[in-house]
Amino acid sequence: MDLDSVIGQLKGIGEKRAQLFAKLGVFTIYDLLHLYPRTYEDWSSPCAIRDAPREEPCCVRVTVTQEMQATPTRSGLVLYKGAVTDGHTPMEVTIFNSSYQAQKLRAGEEYYLYGKIEMGIGMARMSAPEIAPAAQEPALRPVYPQTKGLNSAAIARAVRQALLALRETYPDCLPDRLRQKYQLCAIGYALEKIHFPASQEELEIARRRLIFEELLLLQLGMIRLRHRSREASGVCLTHNYTEEFLRSLPFSPTGAQVRAVREACADMRTGLPMNRLLQGDVGSGKTAVAAALVYELARNGLQCAVMAPTEILAEQHYRTFTALLDGTGIRVELLTGSLRAKAKREVHARLEDGSCQVAVGTHALISESVRFRDLGLVITDEQHRFGVAQRMALAHKGVNPHLYVMSATPIPRTLSLIIYGDLDVSVLDERPPGRRDIATYAVPGALHPRIYNLLRKTVREGGQAYIVCPLAEQSDGSTLLSAAEYAKKLQDGPLRDCRIGLLYGRMRSAEKDRVMRAFAAGELDILVSTTVIEVGVDVPNACVMVIENADHFGLPQLHQLRGRVGRGERESMCILVSDAGGETAKRRLHVMCETADGFKIAQEDLKLRGPGDFFGARQHGLPNLRIADMMRDMDILKQAREAALLWSQYDPDLRRTSSRELRREVLRLFANVEGGLN
Ligand code: ADP
Ligand code: MG
Repeated sequence: MDLDSVIGQLKGIGEKRAQLFAKLGVFTIYDLLHLYPRTYEDWSSPCAIRDAPREEPCCVRVTVTQEMQATPTRSGLVLYKGAVTDGHTPMEVTIFNSSYQAQKLRAGEEYYLYGKIEMGIGMARMSAPEIAPAAQEPALRPVYPQTKGLNSAAIARAVRQALLALRETYPDCLPDRLRQKYQLCAIGYALEKIHFPASQEELEIARRRLIFEELLLLQLGMIRLRHRSREASGVCLTHNYTEEFLRSLPFSPTGAQVRAVREACADMRTGLPMNRLLQGDVGSGKTAVAAALVYELARNGLQCAVMAPTEILAEQHYRTFTALLDGTGIRVELLTGSLRAKAKREVHARLEDGSCQVAVGTHALISESVRFRDLGLVITDEQHRFGVAQRMALAHKGVNPHLYVMSATPIPRTLSLIIYGDLDVSVLDERPPGRRDIATYAVPGALHPRIYNLLRKTVREGGQAYIVCPLAEQSDGSTLLSAAEYAKKLQDGPLRDCRIGLLYGRMRSAEKDRVMRAFAAGELDILVSTTVIEVGVDVPNACVMVIENADHFGLPQLHQLRGRVGRGERESMCILVSDAGGETAKRRLHVMCETADGFKIAQEDLKLRGPGDFFGARQHGLPNLRIADMMRDMDILKQAREAALLWSQYDPDLRRTSSRELRREVLRLFANVEGGLN
């Protein structure tokens, strides 16, 4: 038996059991050993009955003072009642319908009981406890993620077998040097103790090792993904066209925009590849900065690729870049998945022969058949939706091109180090002039008539509005209106005099584009949509944002949505409609009404959600972690980062013998990451 053997090889695991394990994602012995307990029942430090915590199960050590007596009940169940004491406090014990359990408790003998203790009048009570003889070693008992038909005890038995078979030969992926330096236990010990610790101390030792290992593997993998030669970039800019472009803009750039452009251009003149993040809140004007860089590159005879997460956004960028670069002779092309084959081939040809300098698109840009003659700069917008692998795939279409990522989401430094490595940051901390505060209100559904009044008035005055619904199509059981139904209801009823457009994710993209264009051109008054407009959409004349069932959205998402208005001359407003009664829901919406600062909103979000969820790792294209939590385990993360850097200096490609197991585990961790590692 080895790690890759299927669990059916264990005793007591037939086909049926194996299927249950499969539901938990366990197929091989490896999976089984790494199915870590969700939590533990602590039988290692019994407490006194009178100190027992409320509402939480605990362990007590007791002597049976009165044997269990059967009392039949009217419902036909048999109730067993008896009494125990911990030496100070007597307690009544009740067992339901199990003579087997009841007979375990013999008068005069000592036991551990595990369960919830209720403090009744004059008497403590425990119902249906788990029972172990006091002679048994006290320990922590694993509680596994369970599925129907497969309980923790059954899982624990399988784990025990696997441990017995493999404990001695399990390959330790951590090189001795690292284990010593960071004082980490051996893998055999860690696996045994993560499942069956005798004490909290043992558990901590095991956890620390496994968390460290996972975070180390994560970072080694990310370093490999990001790996770029630190040697000369293929593209060192020699001429400076910044001022020329900034003068040509239809507005005067903010100080922050000018600074950001200069910082990036300075990077691109050093001869080394730029690696820079542009962080700016929604509406801070990131696109104009990107356009300036594109202009700079094109004037220097180089090509740029601009990648956006959605077709709508790619199309909008295409329009913006085309407009801003109009009359310069710079050719911009749009490349998305929905382009017809012939058009696609033509764009490919123009990128390859260099007659087109700027490709704006979705991940269609990564496609193998896309080649550039001279790719100098890769820009990704709202990048937290791209995996590192995708960004690097694009970068590999040039020779060490410069990288520029733009984001509205503030990312904690430690997390950004993992995702981007060492990168420089420019901040757009100044709002373009004329940017208006967006008055934000949280209101109940009962106010819909007033909302419709407001919308009619807005449209009469020449303004436009968005109405966002959480779901495009009604999933069964859900009472939420779909965007399509809602649009129809409004068109047939309260907003019959307005021109209403509809936009949702599954629409054909030519159709999406048509609707978006019509809205941007003012041919539609109101756009009913799902969150497809969440990122980046820019129609300055839109001044009212209504978000239905607002409690169904995350705070950063609400912030993004709200950022679609307040972009032009008009007084703008955001209305969050919600009938949710919960405290958290109310507080979240309250935060939105109180602040317009994206950073604060992200922080509040973290507070209200708890760290586990922070910036869903998957969104960043990171692999799923089994035991580590990047926010909670920040200290270990830092050590693991140091270790990863040390090791990758010593053996960058993980080719040495001492890296063999490390390499295998890194590949295993990244097996399911889009783009993957090799
Ligand atoms: P984001 O940072 O959210 O991507 P955009 O680049 O979409 O923001 O810019 C938002 C709007 O502000 C656009 O309509 C853009 O034309 C406008 N804008 C950008 N910079 C300025 C400026 N310096 N002065 C006036 N308007 C600006
Ligand atoms: Mg944008």
